[in-house]
Amino acid sequence: MAVLPVTKLGNPILRKKCNPVMDFSILPQIVEDMFDTMYEAEGIGLAGNQIGLDMALCVIDITHTEEDGVPHVFINGEILERTGEYLMEEGCLSIPDVRFEFNRAERVRFRYQDMEGNTYEDEFDGLLARVIQHEMDHLNGNLIIDHVSKLVRMQHRKQLREIEKTEKSLLAVK
Ligand SMILES: [Zn+2]
Repeated sequence: MAVLPVTKLGNPILRKKCNPVMDFSILPQIVEDMFDTMYEAEGIGLAGNQIGLDMALCVIDITHTEEDGVPHVFINGEILERTGEYLMEEGCLSIPDVRFEFNRAERVRFRYQDMEGNTYEDEFDGLLARVIQHEMDHLNGNLIIDHVSKLVRMQHRKQLREIEKTEKSLLAVK
């Protein structure tokens, strides 16, 4: 078990489009660490670049809700289609204590691989579709702050600057 530090706003890896996973043999340890890290941080989803890995994978667990019964690992995911729209407030482990309300698609058609490299195509809706879109944003270098207006970002400017400053000082030490 390893709980890893979560990369925060200001870390350049969060702005990178992550590379596809090619070597599936290294996944079991990485995925275990990602679940440990996500549970410790009390998150419901975590993307590879949030633990500093340039790898297109994410873990999701919304089993605390009635909506879904199992945790998920999605490798090399791609959203093929988005339909509907709904408004919800979202937070992000990489931008602590900041929440924004914005629209995302209600339903997605999603193609992904499992840890053995098998390819699937499924439809997801509700909270799971929401979290998939959030994690796919991460793996494409996007963040929740990109979904809100400049005005809304300005309202949180102090908090956002503080997170960036802390992250950059941590990076400078490394
Ligand atoms: Zn996030």
